[in-house]
Amino acid sequence: MYDAIVVGARCAGSPTAMLLARKGYRVLLVDRASFPSDTLSVHYIHQPGVARLARWGLLDQVIASNCPPVRRQRLDVGPFALEGTPPPLDGVADGYAPRRTVLDKILVDAAAAAGAEVRERFTVGELVTDGERVTGIRGHGAGGGTVTEEARIVIGADGIHSLVARQVDAAEYNDKPAMTCAYYSYWSDLPKPGVELYSRPDHMIVTGPTNDGQSLIIVYWPIAAFSEVRTDIETHFSAALDLAPDLAERVRAGTRTERFKGTADLRNFYRRPYGPGWALVGDAGYHKDPITAQGISDAFRDADLLAAAIDDGLAGRRPLADALAGYEARRNEATMPIYEMTLQFAALQPPPPEMQQLLGALRGNQEQTNRFLGTVVGTVPIPEFFASENLGSIMGMAATAA
Ligand SMILES: Cc1cc2nc3c(=O)[nH]c(=O)nc-3n(C[C@H](O)[C@H](O)[C@H](O)COP(=O)(O)OP(=O)(O)OC[C@H]3O[C@@H](n4cnc5c(N)ncnc54)[C@H](O)[C@@H]3O)c2cc1C
Repeated sequence: MYDAIVVGARCAGSPTAMLLARKGYRVLLVDRASFPSDTLSVHYIHQPGVARLARWGLLDQVIASNCPPVRRQRLDVGPFALEGTPPPLDGVADGYAPRRTVLDKILVDAAAAAGAEVRERFTVGELVTDGERVTGIRGHGAGGGTVTEEARIVIGADGIHSLVARQVDAAEYNDKPAMTCAYYSYWSDLPKPGVELYSRPDHMIVTGPTNDGQSLIIVYWPIAAFSEVRTDIETHFSAALDLAPDLAERVRAGTRTERFKGTADLRNFYRRPYGPGWALVGDAGYHKDPITAQGISDAFRDADLLAAAIDDGLAGRRPLADALAGYEARRNEATMPIYEMTLQFAALQPPPPEMQQLLGALRGNQEQTNRFLGTVVGTVPIPEFFASENLGSIMGMAATAA
């Protein structure tokens, strides 16, 4: 009998298993994948996620993987660009974009080093229940027979199509259909490899540096364009780059080093993340369009919140259900404002007039530009930046400067 079984060993599952094991719990961490392995995702970890890696003692390994820091951000809205450095959080000023082959291996190894039992190539086929309560998992290893394992709590860190969420029929809320589709690849020899975002009608183009001198470029289109884009990805990608001629020129001087990968499987939803004997973490419990690059940092935060709640419950400091209700409330409080902002970005439409005015007013105001960029990366609270006094002060300064 384990204290906890965690299904899924990437950004959400491995840190959850690591944190529980570090608190002394007996943890089983399973994944049908083996590590290192790639997954459909790009890699940008904002400062709050980086701060967690630092706190967990894992940031040095990311840096040692030949992954450069990213401090400057550039948001090009067409007629002009805002450029700056978001304010730091907990002393962390840099973001990083490690390949998932690198990051997920560091995370799963950290879970094992903390004492979690890790079973790779193990597929969970169903949950074991006793009445309403989840009591374990049933699955199989590569080529092996059926195995049943029991635990006080089973945690689904098994991604957007979570089997755990499906089997417990976890309620969804605030859900919105997919709004975008995206394709990405990697280039070598791309000069100026900072993070750059190009917002264009019906497109968002994002580029940034990852491991070993490579740059990734991802293009987002409206979901309605997916069937057309997938027929000839290279041509559509190239046409998108033409909307940002300076970037297109640099990309064409570089070399694409891998095939394109992409998806239209980008639904937006929250799921109730707990019930008797089960909990959800990461994409399994909360999924949103990746256009603002929140998923990895969200998974890290929720691993922290969930591990603390489970510890409170299993150690008897609070009823477990109360502690898990607190986890859901804190997750939602932390994410609702950026969820709304993400949906606005994912609409791929020109910003509404008030936002256009604000963006215009930020030009030449470096401090507030940095704070605006901080709202997306999560180092400046969105309600604080968009408070009417702050907006009034930005507009007032712009009027005085004009
Ligand atoms: C195109 C794209 C770009 C993105 N870009 C960014 C970005 O720049 N920054 C960012 O922060 N986020 C980004 N994201 C989001 C990010 O990838 C996810 O939020 C993150 O991977 C969630 O991690 P997770 O651990 O919850 O789930 P996942 O990474 O999906 O891991 C789930 C794991 O569960 C395992 N599993 C599933 N079912 C079973 C089963 N039955 N038995 C055993 N194992 C199972 C899977 O094998 C998998 O390893 C992007 C996503 C996409 C699609």
